[in-house]
Amino acid sequence: MIGMRTYVTCAGETKIRYHAPPMECTVLTSSKSAGIGNGLTYQAPKGSVTVGSPVLVPLRKKMMEGIVLALNEKRERTFDVKAIKQALSESPLLPSFHIETLRWMAEKYHCSLRQAIRVFLPSLSWKDLLPKEIRTYRLSGAPTSADKQSALRGKKQQQICEYLAGKDPVEASALREATGCSALTIRSLLEREILIEEIVTEEMQPSPPAEITWPTLTDVQKKVSGSIARDDRPSLLFGVTGSGKTEVYAQLIAEAVQDGKSAILLVPEILLTEHCIHRFQSLLSPERICVMHSRLTPSARKAAWRACRAGNVDLVIGSRSALFSPLENLGLVVIDEEHEWTYKNEQTPRYHARETAEALCQFAGAKLILGTATPSLESWDRAKEGSYHLARLPDRYLGQDLPTVRVVDLADVAFGKTYPFSPSLLQAIDERLQKGEQSVLFLNRRGVASALLCFECRRRVVSPDSQLPFTVHRMGGRPRLVDHTTNLTVDAPEECPHCGSASLHEVGAGTVRIEDILNERFPQARILRADKDTLQHPEQMRLLLKKMREQKADILVGTQSVVKGLDLPNVTLAAVLIADIGLSLPHFRAGERIFQLLTQLTGRSGRAKPGEVIIQTFRPNAPEVQFAAEHKTEEYLEDELKLRKHAEYPPSTEMIRLILRGQDSGARAKQLYASASQTSNSTMHVSYAPTLFGGGNVWHVLLRGKNPRSILTHLDLSDATVDIDPIECV
Ligand code: ADP
Ligand code: ZN
Repeated sequence: MIGMRTYVTCAGETKIRYHAPPMECTVLTSSKSAGIGNGLTYQAPKGSVTVGSPVLVPLRKKMMEGIVLALNEKRERTFDVKAIKQALSESPLLPSFHIETLRWMAEKYHCSLRQAIRVFLPSLSWKDLLPKEIRTYRLSGAPTSADKQSALRGKKQQQICEYLAGKDPVEASALREATGCSALTIRSLLEREILIEEIVTEEMQPSPPAEITWPTLTDVQKKVSGSIARDDRPSLLFGVTGSGKTEVYAQLIAEAVQDGKSAILLVPEILLTEHCIHRFQSLLSPERICVMHSRLTPSARKAAWRACRAGNVDLVIGSRSALFSPLENLGLVVIDEEHEWTYKNEQTPRYHARETAEALCQFAGAKLILGTATPSLESWDRAKEGSYHLARLPDRYLGQDLPTVRVVDLADVAFGKTYPFSPSLLQAIDERLQKGEQSVLFLNRRGVASALLCFECRRRVVSPDSQLPFTVHRMGGRPRLVDHTTNLTVDAPEECPHCGSASLHEVGAGTVRIEDILNERFPQARILRADKDTLQHPEQMRLLLKKMREQKADILVGTQSVVKGLDLPNVTLAAVLIADIGLSLPHFRAGERIFQLLTQLTGRSGRAKPGEVIIQTFRPNAPEVQFAAEHKTEEYLEDELKLRKHAEYPPSTEMIRLILRGQDSGARAKQLYASASQTSNSTMHVSYAPTLFGGGNVWHVLLRGKNPRSILTHLDLSDATVDIDPIECV
């Protein structure tokens, strides 16, 4: 969203300090060699570089790019400290609060600085990110004395002086072309101060300051935004779906921009940037808004990065990685739908954007806002104990009612060809078609795992080790139950261990031909499908949303990751086809996840006129289903928090996951498990198992308790990936 780019030049003289006393600095090089991932010591004349400066340094007979992480006093050493060859720019590559965040990340997520810096610099060549610098030369201007004349040795030097006489500064390349001189000749003239070198930086022309179109908040929204602005702590904005959280963000972003500061707005999914940008283009000047995510082309990403660095951006909208946009005067970070799991990076550095944003905001002196209708247990816990400020929007905008919720018990439904559509759902869709209203249908394709469920007492068969549901595996006919957190494997029972009924069924994804069924059933309906296969790019998402808004479609079928967050006024029916797919994942966060999904579902329906929600489930009485159906978010959170405390799961404890890959990963996991068990005390839970989706080649060791980090120093982690506060843990 960067507008047309024009370039101006601004002159600044190079300061060559030949005689300054030396100092030492820590430089992180771009080299991937193991062992130097946390930087090396170099020396440089005092004042020649600063923290964040991009530099060129000698490393094993080569020149390497690097970035200065710290300036240190010169010390006596037993080895030679090499000198920095050159500073690649006058201005730092990264603002200093980024360097602080980088250090924090490496420490917190147990990785090297080299691994962590990847998320800050979106290019393999760091130099590429710098504004282009052009070297120009002119005569020093002093009257050419006889000495100096005689000091000119050789024809080339004289040619240069003749060529430059009476001219404005000339670029290095032009000078060399015109006179055929070498860089050495120029340098020699520079050292004798016959020539003056000026470095001209190509900078983006600052676009005109933002024009703000202020939102008109309701009284409640005004109060909330005022209380957020006044509180220094991170704010948890807990507002029901449709309460206008986006309007509150808009207000606070506009205030930051008016103060001359910039803001970052994170959304959980790249495709949702499209949805969001819509709103913010009418708040601020569109050319000062920038979209940043990992699916931009490398050159578009670099351009966006440089626009931020040049101070031409007021607002960055993007997914997780946009948190690291190099905005100098950052005033505000907003994380929308803060509970979403997509904020966790599942590659090294395995950071969580929420925790990292908290650190980054602290270093930058910026405000953090976490917005959601279903707070994560982590944030809720922090708000309750006071480290977060809690702001609430309990009602929808203009008092619009939340939709009515119907729970359909799938165990009661006789299915035929229409599985998994219940007759009530089909009827509800039909009614919407008659009335010219729209429907949104979620199908949760995430879960491939199935659980064993009793249709009699509605309980799942649970592992005695972890208290989490077993996963059903078919190993040569007979079903076996596996606990993927502890590796306990047992034969599937014939009868329910809770009530003795023989009515045990595998509940899982199955092949759902949702679209086909709909087409057959409602040939006149216009159906859109939204999932990661049909939507590759935000642009496709934009077109799809446009179609829905213009009522050129009747039914939107989508996976939850795509459909959440949408604000479509004509949708009056939202339904989930099988809620239990998420429920059956053997994961301590499965209940939380399903509660969030169901609440998102209620958020899609009836935003502008009365709406309805249908939840199809095999477990209509599960607490997360019940609480969600009654819109009782706070009650659910309190209930779940108690359970977590009782079972000693996060956030009441901390968790670390050590991942091992490869053929002998099982044996190595066992060794790690043994040494971890030896060093830990009785309050620590240690277990190991193959991961659910790792095909037997990926194993993990789970540490859970108070301060599991203390065990790490006693372990040989050379071939393990450390995952702090894991989200995936089965
Ligand atoms: P949330 O993010 O909390 O789910 P939104 O910010 O999307 O809610 O708001 C829901 C709907 O209500 C949107 O269509 C939005 O435009 C409208 N709305 C909320 N607050 C206001 C306001 N102060 N002025 C105008 N429209 C508003
Ligand atoms: Zn039973």
